[in-house]
Amino acid sequence: MNLSNTHVAVIGGGCAGLSTAAALVDRGFQVTVFEASSQLGGRARTVVVENNNLMHLLDNGQHILLGAYRETLALLRKIGVDEKQVFLRVPLQMNLQSISEKSPFSLKSVHYLPAPLNMLVGLLCCSGLKFSERIAAIKLMLHLKNTQYQITSDTPLEQFLLHQQQTPRLIAVLWEPLCLAALNTPIEIASTRIFLNVLRDTFNGNKKNSDFLLPRLDLSKIISQPLAQYIQSKGSVIRLNRRIRSLEATKNGFSLETRDGKSFFSHVVIAVSPASIDKLVEGLPKLQRALKQTQTYQYQPIYTIYLQYPAETKLPSVMTGLTNTLGQWVFDRGQLCDQKGLIAVIVSAEGKHQRLSQDELALKIARELSQAFPALEKPLWHKVIAEKRATFSCVTNLARPTNKTPQPRLFLAGDYTYADYPATIEGAIRSGIKCADLIANA
Ligand SMILES: Cc1cc2nc3c(=O)[nH]c(=O)nc-3n(C[C@H](O)[C@H](O)[C@H](O)COP(=O)(O)OP(=O)(O)OC[C@H]3O[C@@H](n4cnc5c(N)ncnc54)[C@H](O)[C@@H]3O)c2cc1C
Repeated sequence: MNLSNTHVAVIGGGCAGLSTAAALVDRGFQVTVFEASSQLGGRARTVVVENNNLMHLLDNGQHILLGAYRETLALLRKIGVDEKQVFLRVPLQMNLQSISEKSPFSLKSVHYLPAPLNMLVGLLCCSGLKFSERIAAIKLMLHLKNTQYQITSDTPLEQFLLHQQQTPRLIAVLWEPLCLAALNTPIEIASTRIFLNVLRDTFNGNKKNSDFLLPRLDLSKIISQPLAQYIQSKGSVIRLNRRIRSLEATKNGFSLETRDGKSFFSHVVIAVSPASIDKLVEGLPKLQRALKQTQTYQYQPIYTIYLQYPAETKLPSVMTGLTNTLGQWVFDRGQLCDQKGLIAVIVSAEGKHQRLSQDELALKIARELSQAFPALEKPLWHKVIAEKRATFSCVTNLARPTNKTPQPRLFLAGDYTYADYPATIEGAIRSGIKCADLIANA
């Protein structure tokens, strides 16, 4: 390809758009990234919150990455981000704290054993499940390995698990929390096929694939800012506060309109979320038809409840699960990122918490925490960040568009286009790298 005639516009400065741009500048392409908002990062970004004249850097949601996020980790390495400095890597563990049970569920992968033995022995030795339930879980893991984590037809995950002799208790303490964390979709409607893809990449292969990587810095410092610096250091351009208002095909490429007027590009990568793509493709009927399926997508929320306790507050571990509560995962940000006394609680997917006001929700979560951790004092302040369309609902047989489109020289990036995975940073980054490959190899 003649690089001097090629100028690529990337619409959207989230993980997908920025990884597309980083992969293109590496190959010598000139790229302009247009981002509608005043900051990069999209759904993985830092939010500045003021309380009593003090500024706090919070993430729009407490993210967890996995050792299996191969492309994300390789990309971060390439642009000079030191994994050890930015993530706390912990072997998979699920410590579920319960306010009503004497023997809560606790599972730890056995870090000195190779995969999948690390998980199988972990399951055998876990607490809070009957022996017969532990054996049922192990049998299912072995069955999945033998069938290469594939199924002939997609079914809702809960139905699949019941069919595989998983008891309601096993589903409630093991599979449902994993499903919510991975797919952000209620287990009654979640896609078994996509869940098994995540299990395959997490529990198969290298034992480090199942490690949790917990951000030690705010997300923007880990992902979007270093990516932006990398892209700009190679001479390409990032334009913030530049929403693309319309997109038209021209003889040799595309005309993009922002508040500054029109500009022309040879290639375009649309890297916005499926919820905001319709307006962009209004003038491109072929693409509109190809994207018809995304109009039927449903979305799932994620609420992150930040509670500030006195600075000396410390939870027994950096990450704890909760059962029989609205709160699902609890993070001690004092231990994690030196935000002393700050606790973040995640409530994934739709549910009755959406009927509460933000203050009511924060109070309810604070009550749950004080029951689970009786030494906790009253929180000093709280902040609820509600991402109402955090992810697409990862239901069965969801049609996903491909990165290549019927419109020549126009490509789609974004978590929803990486058909193997639910909405994740890794899916978004893989889709961006794929778009760059498609452009470079055209
Ligand atoms: C609260 C929360 C918690 C999450 N937790 C996890 C987790 O633990 N692990 C994990 O892997 N994933 C998690 N995710 C999902 C992950 O953040 C997303 O899958 C990923 O960030 C999506 O990236 P993207 O680039 O595809 O889309 P987006 O991040 O949505 O980026 C799209 C960008 O396009 C911009 N844009 C839109 N329209 C226009 C336009 N017309 N012109 C210019 N720009 C435009 C938007 O402003 C946005 O910046 C979470 C998401 C949320 C919200």
